[in-house]
Amino acid sequence: MLAQHDELNPLQAAEARFDLAAEALNLDEGLCKILRTPTREVIVHIPVELDDGRLEVFTGYRVQHSIARGPAKGGIRYAPDVTLDEVRALASWMTWKCAVVNIPYGGGKGGVICDPSILSQRELERITRRYTAEMMDVIGPESDVPAPDLGTNQQTMAWIMDTYSMHKRHTVTAVVTGKPLDLGGSRGRTEATGRGCLIVTLEALKKLGLDPKQARVVVQGFGNVGGQSASLMSKAGLKVVAIVEWDGAVYNAKGLDIAALLKHRNETGSIVDFEGGENIDKDEAMYLECDVLVPAAKENVISSANAHKIRAKIITEGANGPTTALADPVLKAKGIFVIPDILANAGGVTVSYFEWVQDRQGYFWNEQLVNERLEELMVASFRDVVNYAEKHGVDNRTAAYMLAIDRVAFTIKLRGLYA
Ligand code: NAD
Repeated sequence: MLAQHDELNPLQAAEARFDLAAEALNLDEGLCKILRTPTREVIVHIPVELDDGRLEVFTGYRVQHSIARGPAKGGIRYAPDVTLDEVRALASWMTWKCAVVNIPYGGGKGGVICDPSILSQRELERITRRYTAEMMDVIGPESDVPAPDLGTNQQTMAWIMDTYSMHKRHTVTAVVTGKPLDLGGSRGRTEATGRGCLIVTLEALKKLGLDPKQARVVVQGFGNVGGQSASLMSKAGLKVVAIVEWDGAVYNAKGLDIAALLKHRNETGSIVDFEGGENIDKDEAMYLECDVLVPAAKENVISSANAHKIRAKIITEGANGPTTALADPVLKAKGIFVIPDILANAGGVTVSYFEWVQDRQGYFWNEQLVNERLEELMVASFRDVVNYAEKHGVDNRTAAYMLAIDRVAFTIKLRGLYA
């Protein structure tokens, strides 16, 4: 059982969710051991020459949690405080996320201990290329497909693709996803996570009999996921009444003009003092009465310390791990309909999957096709999870984990053990 002091530890949190679902599934003890343990963990120490001529050694990780259903899939994080435990937790999350949306991937994650904010582009390029060279036998279109995460971006993926291709002596675009469009990226990838959040939110509103045109939405985080979610939800007719950022929050009961707010933030560097709304207390904004709350900033923002204050009917978890395991029962007791992260934000990995498929086919889809296929898959996955929850009398998060674990366990049983 998770103690309050472990609540914020990512690995303990991931294991707590896994254990709960495995117990509800009555999962065989041996299978539990297999699914709790990563398949492969690689640690590399990368010597890199800095711009001033000094030599530095950076530590990098790649964890493949599961490759039972297909290649490991997951981002690479560059951060000064990234740990092996964090990468392990994130890798297992990817296994469950890919299984929930039923795409043919396992789960993986990578990390390099470095601070991208103090490194030059040339230094980042050298770190990335050496990390890729060290991981040549680990990553690949058939084995493990990295993507961007915190501190990495399209450019990082372009360097990985190029380094991998140089070693292979031919261009291999499918080795990473989240690439620039001109290097085999997919149309619709930038909006994909936000679009996925919109799709499942519309399904949840329908399920609860709520009119989307009357729905009041509060979004925390105005970055890629939060910004796109707010923008697409507003275009779909929902009223985005508040946006919460780290330095302030803005409110308009009639609905904020999201395009104008984005312009204001680009011009001033902040969402505060927006003339289309009023500044409100950022520490209280998440507790506004609303129909939909979209935490899309960071992990652990809804914990046992504040879950009782949430007054939303639906929570669409745009971020990874915004709710701690100890907050789950509090939200459940309040009757809040939670769309768990491994479902709500799976639009990103789904379009990454589409990118990999297009790269392998060498045939690229238009944006409409990407969006239609995303919608089809997200709606089906939402219904799978909700039906599973109803059938087994569990909350949506437990249902999503049970469904995912069951799918991976089934594959392992079917394949049998190679010994
Ligand atoms: P981002 O850096 O583009 O945006 C995060 C935003 O949150 C920033 O604007 C930041 O200022 C804001 N923020 C930070 N701390 C805050 C706080 N305390 N209160 C309010 N706002 C705060 O990152 P992103 O790509 O949008 O990712 C956000 C979350 O979604 C992360 O948990 C990420 O792992 C998850 N996620 C992202 C994707 C994707 O495709 N980008 C896919 C799945 C999950």
